[in-house]
Amino acid sequence: MAIQRTLSIIKPDGVVKDLIGTIYSRFETAGLKIVAAKMLQLTTEQAEGFYAEHKGKPFYDGLIAFMTAGPVMVQVLEGENAIAANREIMGTTNPDEAARGTIRADFATATNRNICHGSDAPETASREIAFFFTDSEICPRREVV
Ligand code: UDP
Repeated sequence: MAIQRTLSIIKPDGVVKDLIGTIYSRFETAGLKIVAAKMLQLTTEQAEGFYAEHKGKPFYDGLIAFMTAGPVMVQVLEGENAIAANREIMGTTNPDEAARGTIRADFATATNRNICHGSDAPETASREIAFFFTDSEICPRREVV
């Protein structure tokens, strides 16, 4: 299987509910390594840039307001099939449809309050990682002797 990187965001509802440690634990238990991380208060311009593909959709304005309502935790995850693995750990966009034991099933209250983001394809992952991190901010694992 391919080692991939993916961009993960713990959204403002996840941060305010103190779920950073719980969610990181799920990533690590699943074999996804956190190779970069930062906490950010997104500006409206950053949120609009990140979600540009959704501009014009009915939920867009609410999404931008939500994503800028408080700090987010942004991380790069690395591991086998990291993109699909992260989306499996997250669960579906609508938490009512998410499989039991997923982050969204366990903690999200609605589609527009769904705790986390994960890239959905390799091209998206590359673009989204570059949106938040320079190459030098990504720290792949090395054996420690
Ligand atoms: N979203 C929303 N209402 C919708 C669809 C999407 O509020 O009807 C928000 C939700 O926060 C979602 C984000 O927009 O996570 C991006 O939507 P996408 O379809 O890309 O879902 P995701 O990849 O995050 O599961």
